[in-house]
Amino acid sequence: MSDHDLVVRGGTIVTASDTMRADIGVRGGRIVAIAESLPASGRSIEAEGLLVMPGGVDTHCHIEQLEANGTVHEDSFATASASAFAGGTTSAICFASQFKGHPIGPTLDEYRRRARSAMLDYSFHQIVTDPTDAVLKELPGIVASGIRSFKIFMTYDPLHVDDREVLRVLAAAKRLGAFVTVHCENYAAIGFMTEALIAAGHTAPKYHAWSRPAVVEREATYRAIALAELIDTPIQVFHVSSAEVAEEIARAKARGLKVWGETCPQYLALTDGHMDWPGFEGAKFMCSPAPREAAEHERMWGMIRRGVLDVISSDHCGFSYEGSKGKGQNGRDVPFRDIPNGIPGLAARLPIVFSEGVSKGRITPNEFVALTATNPANLFGLSGKGRIAIGADADLVVWDPKKQVTLTNALMQHAIDYTPYEGIEVTGWPVATIRRGEVVMQGGTVQAEPGSGRFLARGPYPLTAPRGVVANGFDPAG
Ligand SMILES: [Zn+2]
Repeated sequence: MSDHDLVVRGGTIVTASDTMRADIGVRGGRIVAIAESLPASGRSIEAEGLLVMPGGVDTHCHIEQLEANGTVHEDSFATASASAFAGGTTSAICFASQFKGHPIGPTLDEYRRRARSAMLDYSFHQIVTDPTDAVLKELPGIVASGIRSFKIFMTYDPLHVDDREVLRVLAAAKRLGAFVTVHCENYAAIGFMTEALIAAGHTAPKYHAWSRPAVVEREATYRAIALAELIDTPIQVFHVSSAEVAEEIARAKARGLKVWGETCPQYLALTDGHMDWPGFEGAKFMCSPAPREAAEHERMWGMIRRGVLDVISSDHCGFSYEGSKGKGQNGRDVPFRDIPNGIPGLAARLPIVFSEGVSKGRITPNEFVALTATNPANLFGLSGKGRIAIGADADLVVWDPKKQVTLTNALMQHAIDYTPYEGIEVTGWPVATIRRGEVVMQGGTVQAEPGSGRFLARGPYPLTAPRGVVANGFDPAG
C-alpha cells in the first residue's frame, strides 16, 4: 500500500497507554496505517527523535463568547484556532451562552454562525443560567443537535444558578443522557467577602483571591457532588484549584459516584503572588477560582497522579490587558469586583503541562496524553478524537521533548495582547500540528483555511448513563 496522503515518519508514538516507534499513514483525514516502516507516498513529516502524540483536546475554552452585557470575548474562532494549532491543540469545546429571561435558541444560532470561521474542530457546552419550564423544553432539541453537555455556574452575576436550579438542570441532563459541568464556588460567600474587603479598603486585584479562598470552592464542590448524587447524574467539576477541593472529588469517586475533576495550567504554574504585581498588572492573572499559593502546585500534581483530576484544560478566556474590551473595560482604579475574570491559555496549555509534568518527572508522557487529549475526548463523547489508532481522525502533534522555549505573547498567536505565562521557560514544544491529516502548523507557522474546522456533533455515549441509584427507589428526574 502506498496511497497515503501523509506519512509521519520515524517518530516515537505516545498514546495514553503505549509508547512505540512507528510510522503513521493518513488517508482521507484518518489514520489508516501504523507500521514500523511505511513506503514513501504523498507528503511526509520527518519525526525522527520527536514524539508523535494525539492533537490536544481542550474541553474548556471561551471563544468568541457572547456576554449578557453585549460584549464578545476578544478571540474569534479564527484567532483562537490559530492559537490552538500553535500550541498543538486540534479540537476544543467552547461555550454557547444563555441569558437569563431569554430563550437559548436565538443565541445558540448566532453562536453557530460565528463558529463557521473555525479552523479547529469544535463542539459546544450549552450554558444554562435560567432553567425555566420553557428553557427546559428547548434542551432535548439542543442535545439532539449534538450538544451533549451543559455548563452551570454556582457563582457569578448574572450567570449563577441556585441549588434548586442546579437540580432542575441535573434532572434534565439525566433524562436526556447529557453530561453536566459545574463551576463550583459559593455565590453568597463570595458576595459577602467582596463587600467586606471593599468596605475595608481592600480593592486591588490581589484581593480577588481573598474574596474566594479555597474553602468557598471546596464547599460548593461538595454541594454540587451531593446534588448530583441526589439526582444520579454524572458531572465534571471544572477548574479545581487546590488539593482540598480535589479531595472532595476523591471521596466521591471512592463512593462510586460518577464525578470527574478538571484542573488547568494556571493552578500548576501561577500563584496568588502574581495577582500582587504592582498597579493594575495583577489583573493579568485574575481568574476564578484564583491561583493559590506556590506550595499547592505539588499537592495538585499528587492529585493528578492519583487520577482524582482526569483532565487538564486551559479555561482559555479572552480579555486583553489594554483596550476598551479588556481587563480595564470598567477603568483601572475600580475594585477587583469590576475587573473581568479569565486568562488566555489555549496555546500555552500543552507546553506548560508537558514541561511542568513530563520534563520535571512528575508524570509520564502517556499520562500527559491521557490528561490533555484522551481523557477529555472520552469524557465528552468526542469519538475519533484524542487517540492514535486505525480509523481515528488524524489529529496529531509532533513534539520536540528537548526544545527549550521562553514563552512570549507572540508565540501564543491569539488576539489577546498578553499571556499570563510571559517569560516562563518550558522544555518541550510542538513543531508540527496536524488536523484531520492536514498540516496546519509547522515550525510555528499556522496555515489553515477559516471555516475548515468541523462541528463535532456528539451522540449518546455510555459514560453519561446514571448509576441507577436513587434514594428510596424514587427517581426525581421522572
Ligand atoms: Zn471557564
